[in-house]
Amino acid sequence: MIADNLKTVQNNIRTSLDRAGRGQTDAALIAVSKTKPVSMIMEAYAQGIRDFGENKVQELAEKQEQLPKDIRWHMIGHLQRNKVKYLIGKTALIHSVDSYRLAEEISKEAAKKKTDVDILIEVNVAQEESKFGVSMEEAPDLVKKAAGLPFIHIKGLMTIAPNTENPEENRKYFQCLKQLSVDITSKNVDNVSMNVLSMGMTNDYMVAVEEGSTYVRVGTGIFGERNYDVSI
Ligand SMILES: *Cc1c(COP(=O)(O)O)cnc(C)c1O
Repeated sequence: MIADNLKTVQNNIRTSLDRAGRGQTDAALIAVSKTKPVSMIMEAYAQGIRDFGENKVQELAEKQEQLPKDIRWHMIGHLQRNKVKYLIGKTALIHSVDSYRLAEEISKEAAKKKTDVDILIEVNVAQEESKFGVSMEEAPDLVKKAAGLPFIHIKGLMTIAPNTENPEENRKYFQCLKQLSVDITSKNVDNVSMNVLSMGMTNDYMVAVEEGSTYVRVGTGIFGERNYDVSI
């Protein structure tokens, strides 16, 4: 099942890249494995997947210990400052930095371990009450301020679009995030690149790829529905 799902998702990504006139390697897939057991991660790994996304620090750390070392782990969930110290050194990319205080904490803990940490700034493009992330208006200032911190490198932006039946409704939000990244790039801030755009989930990743996503985060579309009642 996982192998078939992966083929479908990867084909869809290629189709969307083609449709947008983008190169075949311009967007990559992160398999969102939160709540799913390591056996399922290994099934995806066997199909060549090396990027996995988790939203809890402890779950990420536990899975990392049990799984091959060449996996790139992406922290995609809301991150509390008191958990940062347990995460440093474990991630390829932290997608969910949404305040200066959090960036500062990551910088501080990274300095202790003398390791560099790549981060994205999470933007709440659709201004949903229920979601984390800075507003479009606040994002450039946060980027500029956080860029001055040692041991962290801002690689781009991330957004979680609204949960909707019709993915076309999210196209405008993806366009906004892309435009924001272009605007920030034009400011030429030191220690900032805007090469990464983390946007698109199971319901809307094709639209996101058409609008410039470089990382789609797909969980349900690969591993099936999540059951939050069963502890792993
Ligand atoms: C859970 C989650 C995903 C994956 O969602 P699906 O709809 O299952 O693809 C993507 N991004 C974030 C930040 C998530 O928390």
